[in-house]
Amino acid sequence: MATKAEVLDFIRIYADKMAEHRQELTDLDQAIGDGDHGINMSRGFKAVIEKLPTVYDKNIDDILKAVGMTLVSTVGGASGPLYGTAFMKAGAAVKGKEELSDEDLILAFEEAVGGIQLRGKAVEGEKTILDSMIPAINAIKASIAAGKSMTEALVEAEAAAWDGVEYTKSIIATKGRASYLGERSIGHQDPGATSMAYAFQAANEVAAKAGN
Ligand code: ADP
Ligand code: MG
Repeated sequence: MATKAEVLDFIRIYADKMAEHRQELTDLDQAIGDGDHGINMSRGFKAVIEKLPTVYDKNIDDILKAVGMTLVSTVGGASGPLYGTAFMKAGAAVKGKEELSDEDLILAFEEAVGGIQLRGKAVEGEKTILDSMIPAINAIKASIAAGKSMTEALVEAEAAAWDGVEYTKSIIATKGRASYLGERSIGHQDPGATSMAYAFQAANEVAAKAGN
């Protein structure tokens, strides 16, 4: 279960993480891209934080939609439209909800990943955002199906996300800017998979704090 306050908390914590890890994400992108991923994500989420007070009194779906639209309009790189679509699709999946059940959350995650795939045309194993996101969502689904709580599921999701980040070091990038490097992308950690793992870290921290 997630309340609107928790959704807002998640957005704030993730924005803080994007500011905090700006240099790390940029350094990762410097190695296999154009060195702007940390700049893109921190700029986008800074704009989100400025926008947030205007949607405090809205439903969760409108809040998520506003986050997505802000990212699309403020981030120039590939990651803006991809993360933006994820938040917009997650919002559309929970229309009218003032609180999210575990099923709502799973649906929101699935729609978010579906949005990223629709836009980016990537699958797992191409050294992208999806390589931490899909294993994390699968971990949530497996944990909930096994009768665990969402708080427990998110602990496992974060672990799966970081395993996915580690896995990106071993594969060739076949989508996005890093694909220009071909085999030379092997050995490098994907920046987008890393920023997505921080999203599951933020979700895990929010759930742990709420203790449901
Ligand atoms: P840009 O590549 O335009 O400079 P960023 O540096 O902000 O944008 O983001 C790069 C990240 O975007 C990559 O590390 C990768 O994870 C992700 N990415 C790129 N293309 C795709 C795609 N088609 N699907 C999913 N993720 C992608
Ligand atoms: Mg880049």
